[in-house]
Amino acid sequence: MYKIMTPGPTQVLEKVRMARSLACTNPDLDTAFFDFYKDTCMLISSLLHTKNETLILDGEGILGLEAACASLTEPGDKVLVLDNGIFGKGFADFVRLYGGNAEVYHADYEHTLSVDALADYLKLHHDYKYATVVHCDTPSGILNDVQQICPLLKQYGILTVVDSVSAMFGEPIDVDAFQIDILCGGSQKAVSAPPGLTFVTISEAAKEAMKNRSTPIASFYANLMAFENYYEKKWFPYTMPISDIYGLRAAIDEIANDTDMLHRHKIIADATRSTLIAAGLKLHQKSGFSNTVTVFDIPQGITAAQILESMKAKHQIMLAGSFDDFLGKVIRIGHMGTNATISNMVDTLYALDDVLRSLGVPLNVQLDQYFLKTVRASS
Ligand SMILES: *Cc1c(COP(=O)(O)O)cnc(C)c1O
Repeated sequence: MYKIMTPGPTQVLEKVRMARSLACTNPDLDTAFFDFYKDTCMLISSLLHTKNETLILDGEGILGLEAACASLTEPGDKVLVLDNGIFGKGFADFVRLYGGNAEVYHADYEHTLSVDALADYLKLHHDYKYATVVHCDTPSGILNDVQQICPLLKQYGILTVVDSVSAMFGEPIDVDAFQIDILCGGSQKAVSAPPGLTFVTISEAAKEAMKNRSTPIASFYANLMAFENYYEKKWFPYTMPISDIYGLRAAIDEIANDTDMLHRHKIIADATRSTLIAAGLKLHQKSGFSNTVTVFDIPQGITAAQILESMKAKHQIMLAGSFDDFLGKVIRIGHMGTNATISNMVDTLYALDDVLRSLGVPLNVQLDQYFLKTVRASS
């Protein structure tokens, strides 16, 4: 068994695993399950600082992104796709699949999206039904300022779809203050439940847009309107994965009780980044650092595979490489959710120090010790 220090999936607490093994009822017929489902959704909404409805869907994070696009897009609709990372760019595929006209606003992949540049662009181009933006684009670890970006889009009446699958609960989110119309989350990142569930939080404006469509939503499974009045009707569009949802609830309860969660993510992320810099390693990003993941460039003369394999073989710790544009170029440490503890990071950095030195990479500091000293000074 590896200690998984990847940017999702993350480590799953025993409490969450045990909740998944509770006795099952028939989730289509037992009204107690409708109450449980609705309560869990309302708890998620409240943790995201909104009364907007949350729906838990039976599919991994990607389903939430697709469901947002499927439900909003009508053939010919103009959609602004904010692209400064792999997931950012990927939204264009969903928009096009449902007949939308995706306009990709491309910005470089090493910086957080410039709000000023976007504001200038929007002055001349703002005839969009909705826009998509990724909060933390995990393959490169870039964090976008959705707190500024979404209200800017809303000034032009553009609905906002935010993928916060890998940032939510590790970075601050306030759906109402940030003016997010559809927010997408997933079970396997900072939430720290196993993969398999996504949840979407939907504003009244987004629901209106779905109701006012002149063409039907071209999907059943990805149709958010299929859940309309499920509670009153005691009718789910498909049988809910009850054990997955029991596990998710246990993970969400942990988050609800963890008053230090955001602060812990911040001090751990800050200390991890300063440690790597002090050691002479190079962070991949130039700006926009997410508190959920640290991404660094592969040092000269060695490969990503050597680092990853050695971490597993010598220390039973799994880190992640990356893919697409970043394949073979970076290593990612996922310090989100249950991964984000000082002891997990000390173990990980101790192992990384050993692995890098044995591959001949000179380091200016002892990684785990420097981290511990830094994090203690800030907590
Ligand atoms: C993990 C993640 C998802 C879900 O995608 P998978 O790669 O299938 O896990 C979606 N968006 C972001 C930003 C993610 O990090």
